[in-house]
Amino acid sequence: MSELHSLNVASALKGLRSGAFSSRELTAAYLQRIEQLNPRLNVFLYVAADSALKAATAADKKLSKSRKTKAKLPPLLGLPIAIKDVLTVAGIPATAGSRILEGFVPSYNATSVQRLLDAGAVILGKTNTDEFAMGSSTENSAYGVVRNPWDEERVPGGSSGGSAAAVAAGLAPVALGTDTGGSVRQPAALCGLTGLKTTYGRVSRYGLIAFGSSLDTVGILARSAQDAAILLNVMAGYDPLDATTLESKAPKVKLDGKATVKGLKIGVPKEYFIEGVQAEVAKGVREAIAHLEGLGAQVREISLPHTEYALPVYYIIAPAEASANLARFDGVRYGLRVEDQNLIDMFSRTRGQGFGPEVKRRLMIGTYALSAGYYDAYYGQAQKVRTLIRRDFEQAFEQVDLIAAPATPSTAFRIGAHTGNPLEMYLEDVFTLPASLAGVPGLSLPAGFDHQGLPLSLQLLGPHFSEERLLQVGHAYQQITDWHTMLPMDLLKA
Ligand code: GLN
Repeated sequence: MSELHSLNVASALKGLRSGAFSSRELTAAYLQRIEQLNPRLNVFLYVAADSALKAATAADKKLSKSRKTKAKLPPLLGLPIAIKDVLTVAGIPATAGSRILEGFVPSYNATSVQRLLDAGAVILGKTNTDEFAMGSSTENSAYGVVRNPWDEERVPGGSSGGSAAAVAAGLAPVALGTDTGGSVRQPAALCGLTGLKTTYGRVSRYGLIAFGSSLDTVGILARSAQDAAILLNVMAGYDPLDATTLESKAPKVKLDGKATVKGLKIGVPKEYFIEGVQAEVAKGVREAIAHLEGLGAQVREISLPHTEYALPVYYIIAPAEASANLARFDGVRYGLRVEDQNLIDMFSRTRGQGFGPEVKRRLMIGTYALSAGYYDAYYGQAQKVRTLIRRDFEQAFEQVDLIAAPATPSTAFRIGAHTGNPLEMYLEDVFTLPASLAGVPGLSLPAGFDHQGLPLSLQLLGPHFSEERLLQVGHAYQQITDWHTMLPMDLLKA
């Protein structure tokens, strides 16, 4: 049997059920690896060792009982999992990667987390993130950068960089992330993982520390499409605590290996193969698409004509929504307070010391874009162009079933490469932002390696609520390729 920390979700669940190993053994194996490697990779901001072992022991009792009684078990019973530190877990500190939340311990679980717990999952801890999920490299975390397990001089992507590095390095079999403009798909791409960004409204945002409320989605960083499907089935669906969730009528995603890609129409948008994309990245995507063609897909070029506006539109709308959402962090209710006799000074000192430079930049851009006299010129205009971007996708999906494109313009970049130039950093998001603005789901799939041994990735996009189709195609692709099974764990012998 391979080492416990290298099992994927499907095989870990199988082993737990059969009694090949206990949840306590599995959980302890991860905790031990976290202890060894976290000081190097800076993945976890909080390790919930005691509560994880307790939950694992409780799961083991149920598991061994059911072997006698054949009772039906919750689907994730005994499975360890890591949670991005922008989702609340009751009783465990939540920082959102920010100093301003230092000392804040939420009293409730995010719905996504609650559903995993109800399904029997064991929470290992909270993973590092760019502050309030604003960034593409985890360099904006107030708690230090996460290192990419493939090359520790490079970023893991962001903002769910901690979750991505955890799964790639074998510190967790699977992790939750969030994707507002690419924060699941991009780190998955840079760490060689399968990353699912769900349709806006598919998974509840309750307990997700809000960044851009019309864009925020909960996603999954996994080692296979099958693993992502297992978690999605548990988390998806209507939640009375998030009015934007929809009852998804779609049947549970079942990946049986016979998924057929035959006859599926796949569109390749010409706007995603532009100057500035690394040649090896484009080549990797073309090769992956050829594989899908080999499985019987019909591939054709399409156009998403408003793609180039996604970046400026996103960098108005997301900061505008952030400026409203982050107004609540003023030293009164949560985390940090920098005392002052004068209330207004207390607010501004708290915010001045609590927020990092990127968050401040976004709050200033967002506040400006919403201010009287500029609202129509910036925010109003951006909303109109957002509609055009959404229409691009609607029109494309009248002709094709799925879109295939690069997830990122480059493979993992060096730590510090873009920190001096925010615009350069924002350009890392060009291929993930359009789908976020349209609210459609996306899937990053490992698709080989560049000449430096860094992961390449294919991004698949589908119509609203087409996760099942995306995951089926991802699964079919992973039946004929083994990129997803190649992880940097051996590089990381402590
Ligand atoms: N990188 C993008 C940003 O900085 C997206 C972040 C995200 O999806 N949370 O806003």
